[in-house]
Amino acid sequence: MEIKVLEKDDTNMRLLIRGVDVSYMNALRRLVIAEVPCMAIDESVMLENSSVLQDEIIAHRLGLIPLKTDLDSYNLPEDCPCKSEFGCNLCRVTLALDAEAKGGPRTVYSGDLVSENPSIMPVSDKIPILKLAKEQRIKLEAYARLGKGKNHAKWQPVSMCAYKYFPKIEIGRRCDVCGKCIDVCPRRVLVKTGNKIEVRDQISCTLCQDCAEVCPQEPRAITVSGEENAFIFNVESTNVLPPERIVTEAIKILDKQLKELESQIKVRKSEKA
Ligand code: SF4
Ligand code: SF4
Ligand SMILES: [Zn+2]
Repeated sequence: MEIKVLEKDDTNMRLLIRGVDVSYMNALRRLVIAEVPCMAIDESVMLENSSVLQDEIIAHRLGLIPLKTDLDSYNLPEDCPCKSEFGCNLCRVTLALDAEAKGGPRTVYSGDLVSENPSIMPVSDKIPILKLAKEQRIKLEAYARLGKGKNHAKWQPVSMCAYKYFPKIEIGRRCDVCGKCIDVCPRRVLVKTGNKIEVRDQISCTLCQDCAEVCPQEPRAITVSGEENAFIFNVESTNVLPPERIVTEAIKILDKQLKELESQIKVRKSEKA
């Protein structure tokens, strides 16, 4: 396997991965979406709510606020030695909210939540939770836990995780440089340089085939295909974890699952013997 980082910033990562097949890429994508844990509010206790929103709606909105996650300091509730339904300091973080509209109407934002652990906080303090009219108040305690996307989308660490074949674009001698393929391309992949058509931005190609379909030459002067066993893997984190950590966690989980499968096969074999 060969991996090249094409792009990376705090929330996005784009990799070129060669030497794997579609099954591997799809396993990685599914693990990122469904198995890599992150923190989210899982339970809330309403102490006072005089707003017009019902408790359930507020609880639902709280659950969907992405929280900065610390995978090294917290356990998944099912793996925590406390074995308590309520949780302990190793599997639960408490966040408090106490806001009142004293002078006039106000919006309560994610930044109004006060966490017992400053490193487990909403990724942005500008997420609106609810509006309060004059003299209304909201007071609650919320409990965040690690969880997995397969149980609820609020525990999905990514807003997007997808892969595509690495595009291969070939322009043949039959090309008369009419420029139709340039005009039709939605991603501006092609460009006219002097008296020929060149590929300006190969990675942006979506393999839509519009350029090939519009080519007036017979047979077509341009062909677009996906390179076999080469993929562009794109991960967009919700900022709960760095994208590289999400991918390494997914690979660790895949390794663990494969080891479990191997041990199950060995057990079955020895049972037969
Ligand atoms: S549409 Fe076909 S002939 Fe026209 S510039 Fe593109 S590849 Fe060449
Ligand atoms: S396949 Fe689509 S995106 Fe790719 S170069 Fe052709 S028109 Fe552009
Ligand atoms: Zn615990």
